Amino acid sequence: MSDWAKDIKPEYDVAVIGSGLAGLTCANMLARSGHSVILLEQHHKLGGLAAWFKRKGGHIFDVSLHGFPVGMIKTCRKYWTPEIANMIVQLKGIRFDNPQFSFTTTFDREDFTRILQEGFKIPRENIEAFFNTARDMNFYDDQTMTTRELFEKFFPGHDDVVRMLMEPIAYANGSTLDDPAITYGIVFSNFMSKGVYTVRGGTDKFIGAMEVELKKNGVDICTSCPVERIIIEGKKVAGVVAKGKTIKCRAVVSNGNLKSTIHRLVGDGQFSESFMEKARKVRLNNSSCQVYMGIKKGEKIDYIGDLLFTSVAEKFDSVKLRSRNITSRTFSVYYPETRPGSDMYSIVSSTNANYEDWANLSEEEYRSSKKELTESTLDTLEKYIPGVRGKIDWVEAATPKTFQRYTLHEGGASFGTKFEGLKISMGLPEEIPGLFHTGSVGIIMSGWLGAANYGVIVANNVDKFLTP
Ligand SMILES: Cc1cc2nc3c(=O)[nH]c(=O)nc-3n(C[C@H](O)[C@H](O)[C@H](O)COP(=O)(O)OP(=O)(O)OC[C@H]3O[C@@H](n4cnc5c(N)ncnc54)[C@H](O)[C@@H]3O)c2cc1C
Repeated sequence: MSDWAKDIKPEYDVAVIGSGLAGLTCANMLARSGHSVILLEQHHKLGGLAAWFKRKGGHIFDVSLHGFPVGMIKTCRKYWTPEIANMIVQLKGIRFDNPQFSFTTTFDREDFTRILQEGFKIPRENIEAFFNTARDMNFYDDQTMTTRELFEKFFPGHDDVVRMLMEPIAYANGSTLDDPAITYGIVFSNFMSKGVYTVRGGTDKFIGAMEVELKKNGVDICTSCPVERIIIEGKKVAGVVAKGKTIKCRAVVSNGNLKSTIHRLVGDGQFSESFMEKARKVRLNNSSCQVYMGIKKGEKIDYIGDLLFTSVAEKFDSVKLRSRNITSRTFSVYYPETRPGSDMYSIVSSTNANYEDWANLSEEEYRSSKKELTESTLDTLEKYIPGVRGKIDWVEAATPKTFQRYTLHEGGASFGTKFEGLKISMGLPEEIPGLFHTGSVGIIMSGWLGAANYGVIVANNVDKFLTP
């Protein structure tokens, strides 16, 4: 037996595969309910896409800490600890700059109503009706209306309003105008209730506190421990094989990508043909590119807002938004207050991206495309912070290939699957008793809040399965 396995038990109630926010939250809830839980993560750190990394010069970069809705406070208070919930604070300066408009907002219903009324001359009744419709949407509603149709109903001919309402959400969950309107309505309303929130202390402190809590609740944690297979015996879950070792368990929760869970970890032959037919049709969501820029120790930059949605595209366009020929970027600026006690600044630029645009390049093309990505990003940033190039002493880029490498997500999918994936994810235990999936799926369950909340839902289902 190799070293990593010497302290683990031969059998658990539940094995959780993957430590994204959904896997972490699910494992914590199950352990709190008294089940024995092992958490198996292939990467050497916990967190999944809630990732951070350090670089020389004192830099620390957050990968997906750009903003989430206020609901995360309640989720953390209820399913983690008050201390973890108390790390969450509001970001007040959300800025837009594109050929159609330029303004700074607190990104909540009140401020959006003011901007729509004063800036875009939309009658108040239309705005109210739109907000109420979006807020009242739920999973059991008619799912045939698209987001495009929703906007057309309330703001006909207003492509500027569509951009203001849609661009940030497209960044937050990869959705497009052709996705079901409920995927937009739920996520947009979550943000509009009270604006955009972040973690004071950074992802490292947040995930670190979660790790302490998991251990306190008795979860056995194994990192650098990829799961190769989920064992099915007699048509139900019997265990997992991780790094060549069999670990028996009555239930498995996979926090890996839904498609890899079905096709690779379990295997198509274990499911009914009618289920597989639907599972094969599940589309992955898009991936991302990022540029991480570290400001030299001792240098300062002025406040330019916390989140800056920039674009040079004439109108909102989902295809352009993901193109390798980048026209739109979101800059997240991390001032020293992000990590109290630090005097460092960093800036992360994010764009949505297509995996195929990056996966099939020659090594030479890949290198030059990455260079082009960093150079064009620095040029764009210069417009907002003149002279910033001279203050930056670390630049590095991530592409869809990077996201795939670190999370094993097929296609480097940043936000799981399109809407149809949610039903398939939820339907797994009906196909194979004891098999569960949690994590970014169906657009609605993605992002920090969506993933953590889906972890809670699935933990409740696993608990019912284990204690009927
Ligand atoms: C660039 C970028 C920016 C983002 N910005 C935001 C933002 O500002 N706000 C927001 O709310 N959301 C944001 N998101 C989305 C958010 O980060 C994710 O939706 C969320 O963190 C996903 O959590 P998850 O639980 O679904 O799983 P993931 O974080 O995807 O984790 C899955 C885990 O499973 C592990 N795993 C996979 N297969 C195996 C295996 N076989 N064995 C063991 N382990 C395995 C992986 O290593 C990984 O740790 C962003 C995402 C990206 C990529």
